[in-house]
Order: sequence, then C-alpha cells, then structure tokens
Amino acid sequence: MHLRVLRVSVVNKALEFFSRLASGKLMQSHAKFRRMIGLTAALAVGLLLSSSACPRDTSALAASTPLSLLIVTGGHDIEEAAFFRVFDAMNGTTWTHASFGHGAEQKLALENSGTYDVAVFYDMHQNHEPHYREWLQVLEQGKPTVFLHHALGSYVKWEQYGEIIGGRANFGREVVKWAPNATFQHDVTFLVHIADRNHPITEGLQDFEIFDETYNHFAVNPGVHVLLTTDHPNSGTVIGWTHHYKKSPIVYLQLGHGPSAYDNPNFRTLVARSIRWVSAELRK
Ligand SMILES: [Zn+2]
Repeated sequence: MHLRVLRVSVVNKALEFFSRLASGKLMQSHAKFRRMIGLTAALAVGLLLSSSACPRDTSALAASTPLSLLIVTGGHDIEEAAFFRVFDAMNGTTWTHASFGHGAEQKLALENSGTYDVAVFYDMHQNHEPHYREWLQVLEQGKPTVFLHHALGSYVKWEQYGEIIGGRANFGREVVKWAPNATFQHDVTFLVHIADRNHPITEGLQDFEIFDETYNHFAVNPGVHVLLTTDHPNSGTVIGWTHHYKKSPIVYLQLGHGPSAYDNPNFRTLVARSIRWVSAELRK
C-alpha cells in the first residue's frame, strides 16, 4: 500500500473511532469496538514498521519510477563485489557497469547516452582524450550524474573537469595549477554533519558517524550547494554537494572508500537519494 494512502486511512479510522466514542454508539457493540481497536492498532503498527524499515519511502524521493544506472569505474582499485551490493540493494534501479579501457568510453559517447538514465562515476581515471568531446556534449544536453569519493581526483590535467564535478583534488605529486595537491587518510571514524536538512537528499537524516577515508586540501567550487560537512581535523570541511553543469544535475559525495562505508545505511540512503534527485531535477 502506498504510504500516503495508509496514513490517510489511519487518520480516518482514528477520527471515526473518536466520533463514535463521543456519541456513545461504540459501546453498543462490544465486538465492533474490539475490531475497531484492533484495526487501528494494526494500521498504526504497520505505519511505524514501514517508516522505520524503509526510510527512503518517507522522503520526497521515493523510488516511484524505475531508473537504469551506468556505473563507471577505472583508475583506482575497488572492492567490486561489496560496492555493487549497494546498487543491488537499491529500490527501483537496475545497473550496468563499464570501466575505462573496457567499454566506458563508448558508453559515454553521444549515441549511447540514451541507454541509461543516470551515470554514477566511481573512477579516478586520468586520460580524458578518447571520450571527453562527446561526453561534454552529453552533459551539455543534460545527463543526471552522481560522482562518488575518488572521482574528485579524476582527470587532474584536464582543467574543465572541475567545472563538471564542482571541485578538484590531485592525489599525485605533480603540481597542476587548477588541481591542488590533496591528502588522504584511511580508517578514520568521523562525524558527518547534515549541512542542509531541507534538501530532498538529506531530508530527515541526522548527523552520523562513519568509518571511512578522509580527504584534505582539495578544492570546492564556490557555487556549489553544500549538503554535507565535517569538522574532523584531517578532512576538508565540505564533503558533499549538488550543482549543475550546463543542463546536467550533479551530486558529489566524498564518502565511500570501502565496505565500511558501503554498508553504512546513511551512505546507502545518500547514494540512492542522490540518484533519484539528479534524475528528478532533469525533468523539472
Ligand atoms: Zn579511497
């Protein structure tokens, strides 16, 4: 049952119950009274269970339409099986995977851009030359796109990439004018602060702890809409944002180094809602 319908139904039953109680009619039928109490209680319990077991259903970004994802990797080792379980567990999405050097370049071409609804980048690829012209055209036309974690360090020598993702990090040693040399630290427990509690992606979420990797000394573009921050001394402050590149809605979430992040329910909620948000934003 749709949650809103369920809520209306609970409210109606409760109103009916109290109006009957006030008129004294309820007491005339003991059996009816018990049935009504039972029904109201069952609906209330059902409402509580559905709210707590599936927090995404209560947000404005509930999985209403099926979405197909293109997950792009390459340029950084990942624990694939554990990472893909995040998307297996997601409501209302199907996914295909392509890595650079093994089909990702072709998937990002203009003629293939209609084969997926949302692109999710979890790469740290550096060679933009084979595909960037067509990918830019795809983004100019509008393609919902989510970047995760080390994707901030992709294409260090390609200046325009910073405008697409909304920030920059250079995890190499070379000095590049537009990509600051960033640092990282593994295995840090830190507090993620919800900077905007009114955004559909973060609505209803509380600040939470995560065991993950921190980045520091990276750049964040001044125009981004900040969703997540942290006060940890070994991290840059802004660690999640939305913005637009041309007609493309973009989300970047810095969380997500490995299984401890993948299995964090808040991380999963943020990734799922980011995917829903970029998709909905395009249709506005
Ligand atoms: Zn990492």
